[in-house]
Order: sequence, then structure tokens, then C-alpha cells
Amino acid sequence: MPMKTRETGQMISGVDAKTRLPYGVSRYYESLAESSDPHSDPIAAQFVPRIQEQTVLECESSDPISDVGYSVARRVIHHYNDRILILVNDRCATYCRHCFRRHFTGNDSGRLTHEELQRAAEYISATERVQEVLLSGGDPLMLPDRDLQRIIMRLRDAAGKRTLLFRVASRMPVVLPSRITPALVDVLREASDSRIWLVTHANHPRELTPQSARAAKLLVDGGIPVLNQAVLLKGINNDADALEELFRGLIQLRVKPYYLFQGDLASGTSHFRTSIEEGLDLMDQLRRRLSGIAMPTYAVDLPGGGGKIPLTRASVAEVRQQEYILTDSDGNRYSYPRELTGE
Ligand SMILES: *Cc1c(COP(=O)(O)O)cnc(C)c1O
Repeated sequence: MPMKTRETGQMISGVDAKTRLPYGVSRYYESLAESSDPHSDPIAAQFVPRIQEQTVLECESSDPISDVGYSVARRVIHHYNDRILILVNDRCATYCRHCFRRHFTGNDSGRLTHEELQRAAEYISATERVQEVLLSGGDPLMLPDRDLQRIIMRLRDAAGKRTLLFRVASRMPVVLPSRITPALVDVLREASDSRIWLVTHANHPRELTPQSARAAKLLVDGGIPVLNQAVLLKGINNDADALEELFRGLIQLRVKPYYLFQGDLASGTSHFRTSIEEGLDLMDQLRRRLSGIAMPTYAVDLPGGGGKIPLTRASVAEVRQQEYILTDSDGNRYSYPRELTGE
């Protein structure tokens, strides 16, 4: 597809002329692809745009989980009781073709401004129930160490007597593991007073390389626990053997598989989504093969702002021809489409 690309030291980047989705991949992550064909290679599929991205279904949206509806200040999302999420930066070292925050990522919001940080701090000061702050984006670790330090210290300060817990959502251990340095680990741990977790995003066992293992070791040995959020992606990891190898590999690195997400209804991602029946079957197979610590929670972020719910057979109240009816723990009912592909 037509694309202008730019090559710099670390990145090959550009913007797709038709969809305006940013394109970008680190040289490191690109080197993990055994072929550049996104239809056959599970790494290439995650960064090479496909023509199917231009098929947008009616049920899809650029903001499938209603971040905008839960915004309490610019770039601050308060959706769940005791935790807020701050979009600290819109850039990534590699742009995932399945990204669900495409309303934000690479849309030129840039990094959190001084003013936005101030507003976020004021919100934390004023909102007693906030106990945890998720730093997300984009990838927060695209920012220099000193900026991360300044953000974390400012927010901690704002919490006064409350002790804030931090969670950094970053794909760097997978897409640019050299970003994880002893200096970064020290900054994160010290700025947060050792109250920090890192959540990364590996989807395929081929992403677990000696380099990513080194990054995980630096973090965990440095006192920062690491979790993994994977997304169930058709043609990439919707296979019990691949998932088994991924989750086994992660726990060997002391990275806990946290969530396995059903695909969000993000614009132009129908070619990635599997059915919920398939996801439930895969989870059953994995449970027979893997230890408890290797098992993530299979979950979906309910379209229309319903929030995250674990997916089990019990959460599927009804299977209709066109949709699933899902229920949360309060018995609320939500629709998730069954007619999935735009192909
Ligand atoms: C996913 C998410 C969280 C974190 O949810 P957990 O279930 O605690 O991992 C927090 N805020 C927002 C807006 C989210 O989308």
C-alpha cells in the first residue's frame, strides 16, 4: 500500500496515506520477522499494514473502550474505582496494527505538557480514592528518564499522605529491549519509592529473545515486577501451542501472564479478531497444559465503555446469530459482535 517512509537510526516510520494510521517499527523488532509478509509471519503481521485495515465495520470505533467518555482531564482517564490512566505520550517504538488506542496514538498530541501534568496532579490531590496511576500512551518509555522521573515525583507529591502505586504500560521489553537500562530501572524504582510495576505486551513466543530476556531480568532483578498483556490475534497466536510456549516462556523470565485480551472493536481490526468461542476453547486447552502462574485471565474490554470483564463460559449469556450477549458481575448485559470479519 502507498506509504511514505523515513529511516532514522532506530526506526523506519511513516504515515499510511489512506488510513492515516502511523506506521513505525524499530529495526530490532523488524529483525525478528522471518519474512515481510504479514499474512504468514506473526511478527510482520503486527507492524506491516494490510489492506484489510481500510475495512471499517459499523460496530468498530477509533475509541472502542470509551476512553473519551471517562476522561476527567486532558489525557487523564478515570474508569475504575481506585486507579487512573494517564496518556503520557503518543509515540511508540513500534506501532501495533491492532492498536485500540488509535484515537490517540500518533495523532500528534505529543507528550504530556507541564500544564496537563499539573491538571493530573490536581485531580489526584482532589480525588481520595485514587490509589494507583497507570502511565500509558503511546509508550511512556519513549520519554527520557528524567521526564519520567519528573512525572512520577510530581504525581506522588500530589497524593500527599496517600501512597500511590505506579504501573507503567510499555512494549519496550518486546519491541526495543535496549531501552531498558540499569539507569532507567533505578530511576523508576527510586522515583516511585519502589512502588511500581511494569506491564508489557508480548503476543508470540518469537518475541521472547535473549535481548527481551535481558530486559526482563534487569527489571525484575532491579525490583520492578513485570506482567504481560497479550491480545488474542487471528493468524498470530490463536493456537494453543503458540500460547503455551509464550506463557511458559514468560514465567521463566519471571513475567506473569496477566491478561489475554479478546480483540477490541477498534477501527479496521476485524481481520485480527477471533471468535469468543475460540478464545474460550483455547483457554480450556491451556488450563490442561499449564501451571496456574502461567495462566492469564481471558478478558474483554466491553464495547461502549462497559469496562473489562473476565471471559468465561458463564459470562456468555447468549449466543445469537449476529452477536454474543455478555454479562458482567452486576448482571448488566452487553453485545459483542459475532459476525466478525470484513474479509
Ligand atoms: C485497563 C485499564 C485499567 C486497568 O485495569 P486493571 O483491570 O486494573 O488492569 C485502568 N484504567 C483504564 C482506563 C483501563 O483501560
